[in-house]
Formats: sequence, C-alpha cells, structure tokens
Amino acid sequence: MDFQLSDEHKMIAETAYKLGESFGLEYWREMDAKKSFPKEIWQAICDAGLSGAALPEEYGGSDLGMFEMALIVENLSASGGGSTLGQLFMINPIFGGVTISKFGTDAMKRDMLPKLISGEMNTCMALTESNAGSNTLEIRSFAAQDGDGWLLNGEKIWITAVSDAQKMLVIARTKKIDEVTRRTDGLSMFMIDVDRKGLTHHSIDKLGTRTLSSETVFFEDVRIEPDELVGTLHGGWKELLDTLNTERIVTTAGLVGAGQLAIRLAVAYANEREVFGKTPIGAYQGLQFPLAQTHAEIECARLMNYKAAAQFDAGQPYSSEANAAKLIAAQAASMATERSMQTMGGMGYATESHVERLWRDARLFRFAPVSEEMILNFIAVHDLGMPRSY
Ligand SMILES: Cc1cc2nc3c(=O)[nH]c(=O)nc-3n(C[C@H](O)[C@H](O)[C@H](O)COP(=O)(O)OP(=O)(O)OC[C@H]3O[C@@H](n4cnc5c(N)ncnc54)[C@H](O)[C@@H]3O)c2cc1C
Repeated sequence: MDFQLSDEHKMIAETAYKLGESFGLEYWREMDAKKSFPKEIWQAICDAGLSGAALPEEYGGSDLGMFEMALIVENLSASGGGSTLGQLFMINPIFGGVTISKFGTDAMKRDMLPKLISGEMNTCMALTESNAGSNTLEIRSFAAQDGDGWLLNGEKIWITAVSDAQKMLVIARTKKIDEVTRRTDGLSMFMIDVDRKGLTHHSIDKLGTRTLSSETVFFEDVRIEPDELVGTLHGGWKELLDTLNTERIVTTAGLVGAGQLAIRLAVAYANEREVFGKTPIGAYQGLQFPLAQTHAEIECARLMNYKAAAQFDAGQPYSSEANAAKLIAAQAASMATERSMQTMGGMGYATESHVERLWRDARLFRFAPVSEEMILNFIAVHDLGMPRSY
C-alpha cells in the first residue's frame, strides 16, 4: 500500500489548483450573486484538458482514471470553487461522458464525447420526480412505444443546469410499474435534446448552489428517436447505478476541497484577528478544536474516496467505499463551513468573506444526490447484513 502521490499525480493536482486559483474567490462571489453558470471557468477546465481526464483518448480525453478525476475536482474546489466544482464534473464528464462512453452507441460516442470534453456541449440528468427522490424506483415518467421510437410524458423536479445544457439524460419507465414483477425492471435511459418540442422547464428559487439552476421539467408528448436510447431497453436501472456510483466519487472530491478551503479561510482569519488584547482568536481552543476535528474528518473522507476511485479504476467493487466517503465528506464539509463562519463571527456572514457561499452550497450534500439516511441504510443492509427497514 503506497500513500504517496506520483510525480504525475502531483502535477495534475497542481495544474488543477493553479487553474482554480487564477479565477479566485471573487469570480465565484460574482457568479453566485448573478446566479450565472460559471461558463468561463468550465471552458478553462476543458481547454486545459481536465474535463476529459477519465474519458477515452480516441474522443479527446486522457484515458486516465477516476482517481485522477478526484484529484482534479478536489484541487479545483479547494482553490476557490468549493463543492460546485463537483457538480460541474457530475453533470458533464459523469452524466454525459461516463454514461455515453460505457453505454452509448458508437454514433453517440463520436457525436457527443468530443463536444463534452471540449466544452462545446453541456449535459444534465433527469431522474428525480416529486414522489420519487430517495425512493427513485417510484418514478412514473413514461416513454410509450411510438412507431420505431417513443413518446415521453411526465415531469421531473430539481434537475441541475437544464437551462445551460443542450442534452438531457432522462430516465423513464418503458414498462408501467404495475406491469413489472421487480420495480428495477422496465426503466430505460435516453439522451434527448433539451430544446425538443414538448419539453419545458422552470427554475426553482433556492438557498445555495446558485450558479447552477435547479429546474422542474415537463414532458408533453416528447418524441424520442430510436437512436436516442442509451444502453438496454427496460434494463436501464443497473446501468444507471453504475453512473450514480461514480457520481459519488466526484461529489466527495468537491466536498473534500470545499472543507479544506473553508478551514484554510477560517485559520487565516483566526490567526490575525485579535478581540481581547493581543492574543489572536486562533489561540482559543474553543475555536481550534472544531476546526481540527473537521480537518481530521476531511482527511479520512479524502483517503476513503481515493480508495473508492482506485478500486473503480482497478475494476473492483467500490460502492461501499464511495458511499462511506460521501457520507463523511458531506457531514465534514457542512461542519467545516459552519465552524468557519462561527470563527469569523459577523464577518463570516458577509459575502466578501466567501464562507457564507461555501456554507450554503455544502449544506445540499447532506441530502443530495443521495441523503445521509439512505447511505446509512445502504451500509446497514449491504455492509452489515441487517434487515431492510423500508
Ligand atoms: C439543489 C438540488 C440539485 C439536484 N440535482 C438533481 C439532478 O440534477 N438530477 C436529479 O435527478 N435529481 C437532482 N436532485 C434531487 C435529489 O437527488 C433529491 O433531492 C434527493 O435524492 C432526495 O430526495 P427528496 O428531496 O425527494 O427527499 P425525500 O426522498 O422526500 O426524503 C426526505 C427525507 O426523508 C429521508 N428518508 C426517506 N426515506 C428514508 C428511509 N427509508 N430511511 C430513512 N430516511 C429516509 C431522507 O433521507 C430525507 O432526509 C437535486 C436536488 C437538489 C435539492
């Protein structure tokens, strides 16, 4: 077991950190205030060849692995972006890139992968419905056979960055829920155009992650062409899970970076700020201990995430590690941003200190994309062999 990063890994991490640093915290404050998609930094990430790290070389990627992708996300996040960097990688290289490179047709790969890697195209992923969040298998959006293709009807909620995407990976039932013996049957994945006739979307106002819109989506007789099916008809669930588990690795990397950034800002402030006499507030253990505690937790999540990524890259099972890392990273990043704000007192509440954005953004990940309760359910049932409660 070797815990040292290779020279190549150090170089990748440093490149990502420097790129993030060149945009800086003010860039993110401005984008957040304007609720603008951070397209400038995303384009720079693509131009630097970082978006395609884990995607095939023949389509413009680097054919590295999920481990390298985690390093890139973590460092971009730690240098200013925070957890949003994880989401940017989630929507494009993961939902678009990994799904298409694993399950797409050759034509889809040729058409989409080079555009995703170069930044010419963005994707989004539509799974959640108002009655199917944690209980995903309850989804009711239905794609009915229509000649050689399908007609899609239904609605989705909380879909990230629809307005900035050209393509949507949509998960729908192709067999009604009461026609299947197992709820995992009869689900299919399609890659469709966002601007297609019959597809409408509306923004939801929300607490954080403001640079990426969250939207409700309505499908009214949306025509799906035969060559837009991704993977196996009626057998999309297992294939989707493959994508969702890689999503955990990228999410965790973003949270690890966000936690590191929040702690760094808090320490810098606390070591300067004097309140009573000449002792900086950073000397008070009441402020030190919570930051030290979250630092330790972030480091543990980071190592567990590296293990999940390394196992994915080696073709070994990795979902237990990926879920455990995401659980701890979300809690630790939430606590790191919370304690960072507490450390700064009133200044932590001001947008100019940047911590309030990190705090708003990191909070999301305790219940999305998968909640901590559902991860604990997974650990109890799959890792500990306990009975399922629901
Ligand atoms: C900002 C944002 C962006 C998102 N982006 C996307 C996206 O791009 N695409 C997409 O498809 N979805 C997206 N989602 C949806 C997200 O995946 C869901 O919000 C998440 O899965 C939780 O579902 P829910 O909100 O319906 O909560 P619910 O399922 O209603 O759960 C509510 C609470 O009950 C708990 N709970 C439920 N069942 C159990 C149980 N059996 N045991 C213990 N506790 C339980 C949950 O843990 C949670 O705390 C996004 C959500 C948000 C808020």
